[in-house]
Amino acid sequence: MSELQGKRWNELLHKRLDDHGFTIHHIKEWREQQCETGRPSGLADFYELHGLCFDCQSMGVKFLGERDDVGIWDVCNTCQGTGKAVRSEWKNPISPL
Ligand SMILES: [Zn+2]
Repeated sequence: MSELQGKRWNELLHKRLDDHGFTIHHIKEWREQQCETGRPSGLADFYELHGLCFDCQSMGVKFLGERDDVGIWDVCNTCQGTGKAVRSEWKNPISPL
């Protein structure tokens, strides 16, 4: 088995949802409002509408796996670590919340 190429979480710059000005609560509210008005209310729709990268859930880093019981991460290829991307660049979106 080849060794995972990547870094530990705290060795990489990463972003949180509130770095982009959003919270989980904000997303839930938005989804409920969208649902009530019959508009697209998926998590992916939220990310797209707000220009956030769905591949890494706007964190700028992606989880690769574990090495010696430590989580290994790498910079997200889609957004180059910015946490922002347009939908057309998405590849293999991870499952929604
Ligand atoms: Zn990304």
